[in-house]
Amino acid sequence: MLIRILITLLVLSSPVTQAGWYEVDTTLMGTDVHVSAWHKHDQQAQKAVESALTEMRRINALMSTYESSSELSLLNREASQQATVVSDELLQLINRSLEISKSTHGAFDVTYASIGYLYDYRAGTKPEDKRIQAQLPAVNYEHVVIDEQANTVAYSHPGVRVDLGGIAKGYAVDRSIEIIKQHGIENAIVTAGGDTRVLGKKLDRPWVVGIQNPRSEKDVVAVIPLVNESISTSGDYERYFDDEGIRYHHIIDPQTGDSAREVRSVSILGKESTYADALSTSLFVLGLDSGMQLINTIHGYEAILVDQEGRLHYSRGLQQFAEQDQQHDALAGKVSQLVNQ
Ligand code: AMP
Ligand code: MG
Repeated sequence: MLIRILITLLVLSSPVTQAGWYEVDTTLMGTDVHVSAWHKHDQQAQKAVESALTEMRRINALMSTYESSSELSLLNREASQQATVVSDELLQLINRSLEISKSTHGAFDVTYASIGYLYDYRAGTKPEDKRIQAQLPAVNYEHVVIDEQANTVAYSHPGVRVDLGGIAKGYAVDRSIEIIKQHGIENAIVTAGGDTRVLGKKLDRPWVVGIQNPRSEKDVVAVIPLVNESISTSGDYERYFDDEGIRYHHIIDPQTGDSAREVRSVSILGKESTYADALSTSLFVLGLDSGMQLINTIHGYEAILVDQEGRLHYSRGLQQFAEQDQQHDALAGKVSQLVNQ
């Protein structure tokens, strides 16, 4: 487990074993979670980390589609028949998802799940083409109708399902950092799967996070020092199976109902983990040209893409550093500057 975490997270500097640090590695929200925090009183660090984990469990119980009792599962059972009252929190995250759908021209679409649920990556099974075609009309974020006054969500088309897997982990990471801050902590890191946010530095130095080589678990393709930032990576190696040389993985192009295949991974750097998470999924669907075009219009967010040949591509704000063959410290400074503007 610890090894997995280190590989996923690739925190390349020494482990946090000094006094004052408290850290936990666990599995939550169906993924590897790592939380660590520093406080001069060890017990305060422990309290902060435990509260962050409690928050993640709460969010999972609310938003997981694997939990039949979650509010989102209930919504998926009812919203095609009638407008269904939901909590403010779920309503707001769905609302945010719909806004991101609009700004990504539908690349990010939580109704992808109307088809997504037909894939079983563990069993290695996929829906037949005619099933995909039959369900495709249900994939459209415009079918999700929100009434903010009544606090309701309705699906205006049969067969619509919503899944927040492309944004909820980032949201849980943001909430966890918020709670850690409320405990008076100034140095912490929270990771859930491909989503990481750091608070402050790792004491006197930046946190250092590696971007995994999509085709070799133990290698990194870039090393990113982070201070008060988030990084979110979406990759085609996280949940997938190969069939006749074609990779079927968990990021679905809403236009085709098939896995998006233009790139191997997308990492987004920026302040907020919720947004970075949704943007990494979005750029993965958009691919290199459209993805870069989009990220270059978003203030404070930058991208590093790995294409199908394994080549790295940097968004505009990181370009000059890419050309300098990744001067890591300079890159860190620039990233900090960009996201803190
Ligand atoms: P990530 O690993 O953050 O890129 O998120 C991948 C997850 O996002 C998948 O496991 C799905 O739950 C969800 N997802 C897949 N395709 C899409 C899409 N086109 N729009 C929004 N969410 C998606
Ligand atoms: Mg994502």
